[in-house]
Amino acid sequence: ERIISTEAGEQELSFEQSLRPQTLTQYIGQDKVKENLEVFIKAAKFRQETLDHVLLYGPPGLGKTTLAAIIANEMGVNLRTTSGPAIERPGDLAAILTALEPGDVLFIDEIHRLPRAIEEVLYPAMEDFCLDIVIGKGPSARSVRLDLPPFTLVGATTRAGSLSAPLRDRFGVLSRLEYYKEEDLREIVIRTADVLDTEIDMSAAVEIARRSRGTPRIANRLLRRVRDFAQVRSDGSVDIELANEALELMQVDRLGLDHIDHKLLKGIIEKFRGGPVGLETIAATIGEESHTIEDVYEPYLLQIGFLQRTPRGRVVTHAVYRHFQMEVPSE
Ligand code: ADP
Repeated sequence: ERIISTEAGEQELSFEQSLRPQTLTQYIGQDKVKENLEVFIKAAKFRQETLDHVLLYGPPGLGKTTLAAIIANEMGVNLRTTSGPAIERPGDLAAILTALEPGDVLFIDEIHRLPRAIEEVLYPAMEDFCLDIVIGKGPSARSVRLDLPPFTLVGATTRAGSLSAPLRDRFGVLSRLEYYKEEDLREIVIRTADVLDTEIDMSAAVEIARRSRGTPRIANRLLRRVRDFAQVRSDGSVDIELANEALELMQVDRLGLDHIDHKLLKGIIEKFRGGPVGLETIAATIGEESHTIEDVYEPYLLQIGFLQRTPRGRVVTHAVYRHFQMEVPSE
């Protein structure tokens, strides 16, 4: 288990739940997304209409689920939650849709993982708020159309590109979440500390923010571990020395990189002179699946400019040599 994993663990879910901001104003950062949603929500409320369907996309842990709940809250409607992999048969989706109340928000996490046959049930539901169901089998089978209450679908995906075009086209609002700026993460850390009733120095909050890989989920997790440390080692309040010490112990470096990032980057430097080297070769060298490298390890390294993708493979940048205090190779 990586401490910097972007996925929430089982026991982490209730902790996260307790930290979720309830309104757009409490939602820190992502200004563009917020501004857009604010306008759409106001307009829909003014016209007393249902909010258009919203697609939220971006890496895990950036606040998509949180935003779906905020949308429902701001619209003053219920939130129903499900996920792509949880819906196995068209009937599962039909059951969810027919149980909605007018105006409700239906949140489908990992919407790119919906089977195609189920996606097709969703098209008329999104477009005309109706459901075409087939009754009976063989020659006596007939299709009936059921009306649904108007609702807002909020879909979340880590990859907008893996959504089928017909599904993507049915969303009126497409919002891309970005990795958070350090100031925003610092505010999130301070807010979480407040919720946890923990005293924290500004400089300690900055340090945790810096090592959180642009991701609120990681910021909150690091804070919680640092707080445990503070409770055991001192009076429970978090200052910069204590934060540094705890973060060192967790082996999360100044940029939020852990031993796996180090292994990956140093592997490319030591075995392939910094690259270019193909993904499959890297995978074989460090003993990981190539899709894990692509989906889990690489995004942040690409984001901070430590790795580059070239047609001939991955290349580490000079910034990596500097980070490891290694001599930058001459071309
Ligand atoms: P996602 O659905 O994108 O994986 P979540 O919505 O589950 O991410 O967010 C993960 C955690 O980070 C939650 O505990 C949430 O409270 C916190 N969080 C996310 N975005 C923000 C934000 N903008 N402000 C404050 N906390 C946030």
